[in-house]
Amino acid sequence: TSLQKETIFGHPKGLFILFFTEMWERFSFYGMKALLIFYLTKYHLFSDDSGNLLIGSYAALVYAVPVIGGFIADKYLGFRKAIIFGGIMLVLGHLGMAYEGNAATQSMTGEIVRDNFALQVFYFSLSLIIVGVGFLKANISSLVGELYVKGDARRDSGFTIFYMGINLGSFFATIICAWLGENYGWSYGFAAAGVGMFLGLITFISGKRFLEGKGESLVPELLAKTSFGIKNEWLIYGASALSAFFFWQMVQSHEAVSWILKIAGGLSFLYIVYFAATQLSGKERDQLIALTILIVFTIVFWALFEQAYTSLNLFADRILDRNVLGFELTAGQFLSFNALFIILLAPVFAWLWVKLGKYNPNTAVKFSIALILVGLGFGSLVLGINLSDTGKVAAFWLILTYLLHTCGELSLSPVGLSAVTKLSPVKIVGFMMGVWFLATASSEFIASVLANIASIDTSNGLAPDLNLAKQSYMKLFEYLFYTGIGFGLLLLILSPVIKKLMHGVDKELNN
Ligand code: GLN
Repeated sequence: TSLQKETIFGHPKGLFILFFTEMWERFSFYGMKALLIFYLTKYHLFSDDSGNLLIGSYAALVYAVPVIGGFIADKYLGFRKAIIFGGIMLVLGHLGMAYEGNAATQSMTGEIVRDNFALQVFYFSLSLIIVGVGFLKANISSLVGELYVKGDARRDSGFTIFYMGINLGSFFATIICAWLGENYGWSYGFAAAGVGMFLGLITFISGKRFLEGKGESLVPELLAKTSFGIKNEWLIYGASALSAFFFWQMVQSHEAVSWILKIAGGLSFLYIVYFAATQLSGKERDQLIALTILIVFTIVFWALFEQAYTSLNLFADRILDRNVLGFELTAGQFLSFNALFIILLAPVFAWLWVKLGKYNPNTAVKFSIALILVGLGFGSLVLGINLSDTGKVAAFWLILTYLLHTCGELSLSPVGLSAVTKLSPVKIVGFMMGVWFLATASSEFIASVLANIASIDTSNGLAPDLNLAKQSYMKLFEYLFYTGIGFGLLLLILSPVIKKLMHGVDKELNN
């Protein structure tokens, strides 16, 4: 019908349904995440170490489950149904987060008494979010790819627009939820995140007619059939919802998450090898290999980048002079600079790639630039700390970090999402998108272990000594500076080989 053919800014209207849905989903996701380390360390009196590791476990599961969510969508539900189910889980999870119970107290002898019931509600809420993101995140990205036929030159810019939606959500979330949470009470910040997700769900459900029938199940008969007297579709929802109980336990154990990541990574790798060996040949096989190598390098990128929600957030709270142009920002609000720079620079980068024409770097080179930039971002903080003398570090340096990190992100993330939908065989796009996020999952885990290099003991309840604290952040940032640059150079050396394996998809990628 004419409705479905209508475009806005030259893109299918469905893109904007996905844009606003993902905007609200990320609003809820980042609003909550911005508060997490402070909620844990200041309200439940977690140590830096255990707070970082909990965030690492949670975030790792959040990004690991999309492999399963992607797989189930490819094989059974289709993207649309998976997204709705994920959205419902997310609304419930964020609402659960708004229950905070009692603050932990510390006795004179240093013993900490925590509200265990509140903590269990909290862990269960996290697990609902894990299942929710698992069904929503990768699938909504795959659905963006489905809006364009193969070879459609608008695909890359479609992803750029979509990526701006992600960050529009993140921008408002880190300003509003961080402000509410840090100033008025954690519940307010978390509840605001839940309201956002609810709006996202409504947006998606009401926008169905613009999706041109895309993202539907490939096996509707199978879904409609019954097993054990229940419709298969409902069995899938039921089993998936019950898996929240499993993640409820997992999120509380860093060890367990480490195993899940190793097993999921290993199995995914074997499946890719099996699929490439039995179902693909020639060009298609090469392209899948190229994609897999690129994905491995994203692990390093995100492990550095994701310091934002742990070490960098605590750094902003403790060591940063948070005055920006006369405004005193909360620590969490600094996260909004990443999103702000994405929104401002995404169109610039999209334009730049086109403008560079035949000098446009191929995807592998772009990824290596990203790694170098994320390393340089930490260089900015090393410099900032060095120049701070005995006082706090000027806000400028952290803002510069986010600027460099954002430029890196723009050379890797939207380009990468688009590459996934082009380099993977159609039958496993959902799964490969899941693998893309599985790499982020490992990064989140590694990031939290790295963040612990700079953890500070605040168990005596006193503000940490500024100079000692600076030294431990310095150690971490120096290390990350060299890591980013080292891996960036390595990838640069490998890039000609990867380019060959892509067989010109790259040309089209840079349209
Ligand atoms: N910030 C982006 C998002 O939320 C990328 C996250 C990631 O892949 N690590 O979608």
